[in-house]
Amino acid sequence: MLQSWLEIEESYLAPWAAYSRNSAGRVLAEEECQLRTVYQRDRDRIIHSKAFRRLKHKTQVFINPEGDHFRTRLTHTLEVAQISRTISRALHLNEDLTEAIALGHDLGHTPFGHAGERALNRLIGHFKHNEQSLRLVEQLERNGKGLNLTHEVRDGILHHCGEGLPKTLEGQVVRHCDRIAYLNHDIDDAVRSGYLEYHQLPDSTLQVLGSSHSQRINTVVLDIVKESTGKACVNMSPLIEEAMQELREFMFANVYLHPRKTIEEQRLEKVIDFFFSYYQEHAECLPEEYRHSPLKRAVCDYIAGMTDTFALHHFADLSGCTYTPAI
Ligand code: MG
Repeated sequence: MLQSWLEIEESYLAPWAAYSRNSAGRVLAEEECQLRTVYQRDRDRIIHSKAFRRLKHKTQVFINPEGDHFRTRLTHTLEVAQISRTISRALHLNEDLTEAIALGHDLGHTPFGHAGERALNRLIGHFKHNEQSLRLVEQLERNGKGLNLTHEVRDGILHHCGEGLPKTLEGQVVRHCDRIAYLNHDIDDAVRSGYLEYHQLPDSTLQVLGSSHSQRINTVVLDIVKESTGKACVNMSPLIEEAMQELREFMFANVYLHPRKTIEEQRLEKVIDFFFSYYQEHAECLPEEYRHSPLKRAVCDYIAGMTDTFALHHFADLSGCTYTPAI
């Protein structure tokens, strides 16, 4: 029952954790659930959302990959949630809040990963996936009613990347874990797709973080727990932070900005451009649920919500051209 969860929080959480009873609440007041805390309820709302189901067919790094073993935005999200919960529990933070933020953080990702995000940013002047995640949970889900999530979950989703830290330590855990998850699983997928070989990784990655995927995650998780236990912060040691930074720079230079990938992304941006012009000229073809905003914004919301698979099929239907990968 709700009362026993609140008691568990009282007995287990650190003084600086986010207690459900202290939540700043929802925009529209609601009756409490008899069984779940506000954060448990938010987590469940996110899992039952349409945007969450669409993550299954959205790119993580490799566009619409043919192999079944590549990460998608959904499996990335689940990895972030798993790592975040481990750290949150170890630090006596609110695991339910952490999980809700982690599951919701990437809901606003476009089709084709960052290529889609770049194209929409160019087309409407300002588009960021974290802001779109917030827009989805606040406005677009449930046919324009939004999910009415708590303030802390919305804050964590908005600030999982970019400028400004989340106000809660639970949000800060997710922000770290997003980076821990993607840097590590992208190595794995880059090797799987032939962009990299393990021996090319920087020395600091192999020697400081570890030689396998699980070792590297374990090293960073243990480091954060060690550095942050008993303190109102979520930090890495300078040694691990530096090794993570080197790995990030390496991944940008060798994978994310790889010429082979860039060529493909430029072509996919044109697919987004096509949809943008098409729906501006055929506003009547937009699904009903997207017609509540000014046209440009509505078109952007609809495109941003598309999955990779839907976008490629839909492009073929509307343009009569089948998209074939460049290489
Ligand atoms: Mg992410």
